[in-house]
Amino acid sequence: MELEREEVLSAIHHCVKCKLCSITSFHPREEWLPLCPSGQFYGYQAFYAPGKMEIFRAILEGEITEPSEGLLNAVYACTVCGACYEKCKQITSVELGAPDLFEAMRHELASKGWILDVHKNIAEKIKETRNAYGEKYEYKAKSSDENADVLYYIGCTARYRVPEIADAMLEIFDKIGIKYQVMDEEWCCGSVLIRTGQVEAAKELVAHNVEEIKRSGAKTIVFTCPGCLKTFEKNYPDMGVELVHSTQFLLRQGNMNLKKEDLKAAYHDPCHLGRDLGIYEEPRAVLSEVADIKVMKREKEQAWCCGSGGGVKSAFDDFALWSATERLKEAKEAGAEALVSACPFCKRNLKEAAEKEEIEVYDVVELVNRCLER
Ligand code: SF4
Ligand code: SF4
Repeated sequence: MELEREEVLSAIHHCVKCKLCSITSFHPREEWLPLCPSGQFYGYQAFYAPGKMEIFRAILEGEITEPSEGLLNAVYACTVCGACYEKCKQITSVELGAPDLFEAMRHELASKGWILDVHKNIAEKIKETRNAYGEKYEYKAKSSDENADVLYYIGCTARYRVPEIADAMLEIFDKIGIKYQVMDEEWCCGSVLIRTGQVEAAKELVAHNVEEIKRSGAKTIVFTCPGCLKTFEKNYPDMGVELVHSTQFLLRQGNMNLKKEDLKAAYHDPCHLGRDLGIYEEPRAVLSEVADIKVMKREKEQAWCCGSGGGVKSAFDDFALWSATERLKEAKEAGAEALVSACPFCKRNLKEAAEKEEIEVYDVVELVNRCLER
């Protein structure tokens, strides 16, 4: 475990089990709104942050020696969204570091072999195909200039599940005249392995990608996937290159002659982009250039998670889709015709849930591409 045992136990003992991390601030909405998707969906104490901490303590102190099915579900049916961490920090001014603790817990469990088969299968697929979906074909993308300073790291989800996001980003580069590279052999960044506790299995992927990126000579890496960006920021060695999210990159292009659409759109904060990396304003600034923004009740630090992160989409799809449906309802309630995110993982899950809801779902780069007058 990367966090030391004493560090973990100290954090766990500082949790007073008040459970205030499971609801948003009362003011200014004058209603309590749920914040923890896992606890809200499953209902049992073990699924809320303090319950998970208690499970981790009992494992570390040797009170739990065998994993029951219920224990594995409580540990892995958590999107590691970080809402509990942010809320606890606001209330207590103490940083218990919940998502890191939960990842450390998964690492500890995985090292004992206490892991879900579906997550083990993902590791096997990655070993075989170097992508998280086990796909044998390649997403077709070519560098526009093999010596370009900008490299677009596409990521498994945009390559194999929501290629419209990668297509849009590449078209934007072409339309605004940015030369770019894509990697000849882009391997999974390792995020899903690290989030599900399989940290050792990610090491080979990290080493390969670092080598390829160094060889590319790129100075800036652009990501449309916040999960990949977070992994590069927090789990990769410093490569001396700049790491930016697509919305940060687009914002710094200045006036792109965007033709604003007549569209009311709510912005959904991806957890890895917002709470994990503190990028809240840039996506909103870009979105405001192409649509009219409608504000939802739970936003920024207190945003409701789309439900797909932390290995939840692959293992607990009913829970993932329920969480997404809650978000779509919130967007409609805010008067939005579209829910726009900045993450392929969010887009995929929200879009799937939107089949039953009357609302459009986009990634912000898709709208920008549509509104570019070139
Ligand atoms: S994590 Fe923080 S807010 Fe949540 S129960 Fe513990 S002390 Fe309370
Ligand atoms: S990380 Fe998110 S889903 Fe997990 S316990 Fe915290 S608020 Fe709940």
